[in-house]
Amino acid sequence: LVARMQPFGTTIFAEMSALAVRTGAVNLGQGFPDTDGPPGMLDAAAKALQTGANQYPPGPGIPALRSAIADHQSTFWGLEYDPDGEVLVTAGATEAITAAILALCEPGDEVICFEPYYDSYAAAIALAGAVRRPVTLRPGSDGRYEFDAAALRAAFGPRTRLVLLNSPHNPTGKVFTRDELALIARLCVSHDVYAVTDEVYEHLIFDGGSHVPLATLPGMRDRTLQISSAGKTFSCTGWKVGWACGPVELVSAVLRVKQFLTFVNAAPLQPAVAYALSLPRSYYEEFRADLQAKRDRLIGGLTEAGFSVLVPEGTYFVTADITGLGGTDGVEFCRELPARCGVVAVPSQVFYDNVAAGRHLVRFAFCKKPEVLDEAVSRLRRLA
Ligand code: PMP
Ligand code: GLN
Repeated sequence: LVARMQPFGTTIFAEMSALAVRTGAVNLGQGFPDTDGPPGMLDAAAKALQTGANQYPPGPGIPALRSAIADHQSTFWGLEYDPDGEVLVTAGATEAITAAILALCEPGDEVICFEPYYDSYAAAIALAGAVRRPVTLRPGSDGRYEFDAAALRAAFGPRTRLVLLNSPHNPTGKVFTRDELALIARLCVSHDVYAVTDEVYEHLIFDGGSHVPLATLPGMRDRTLQISSAGKTFSCTGWKVGWACGPVELVSAVLRVKQFLTFVNAAPLQPAVAYALSLPRSYYEEFRADLQAKRDRLIGGLTEAGFSVLVPEGTYFVTADITGLGGTDGVEFCRELPARCGVVAVPSQVFYDNVAAGRHLVRFAFCKKPEVLDEAVSRLRRLA
């Protein structure tokens, strides 16, 4: 194995899901829902399979899906992209992120990201021979995760190539505010760097909050590659249908790399995702309300079980502090949790370079049926 990949073992999600299967624990580790997405979307995929959509589709994605993605961007965020050239279908957001970094970074270039960060970022940056420059998110006095503006400014330098921004943010559940985004945008413009935005949780926002794509801020549309995927919005994480939108120069650079990673993506799933993207707003509202109720159910239970939690503004995840339960190290805590009480969670520290900032934190996924959440909570109460 090449040296640059040696620091990367098995992903925490694979490790923890395997542990859940082996021990029969309730799996609140890896973020995937335990109910399927809209029935019409599933029917559309079955129909596509049966009616011959089974050979290589066009490299950038089928036209119907690219149009549906462009329409969705326009309807929800007021962003206009040409489906021919400014929209690219990828194997999940993961492929889009990796292909973008490989396409845009020379060895030694620096990528600014907020830690804790999604695990594929560090590996993708390493594959490109680039260097990550983390800026740490920490819980502030108002119960929201914040970053230090001076630390963000200081992260920019002559080798900065891009900012990789995830909002709503996994694992903290933070939704970046317009003011925070404005600062990031001003720095991108003044340092003339690109932004790659991971917006896979764009529709998973609670308490009436709203998502603001970085690309909508002044000066950003033409320097931002906006990435999302169907997995979270339509509860089909196993389909791995994602996309990237941006100016044609950025999208064609990503396509140049993507064509040698996967060439194209699963044909019969593409018309089905096009169908899902055209669902009425009521779908998104119901989905969000359902998830918010699950969030509140799990937060209530975790609090009763002795964890102290920060309320996430978005995503599938809640972060809990294990200190009140006598825990100090989240990795140790999560490895022992199945044996102690039959639940799996993910230690947040694996998402940090600055491990000390996340040592005492663990992440629970709440995208599960109410009875599954209740069972997990009743097991977690045994810890007290
Ligand atoms: N980014 C973030 C922040 C995620 O949590 C995930 C996990 N779903 C992904 C990217 C990967 O998305 P996909 O499954 O579409 O590749
Ligand atoms: N995004 C999901 C999570 O954060 C899982 C993705 C994966 O397993 N790679 O839990």
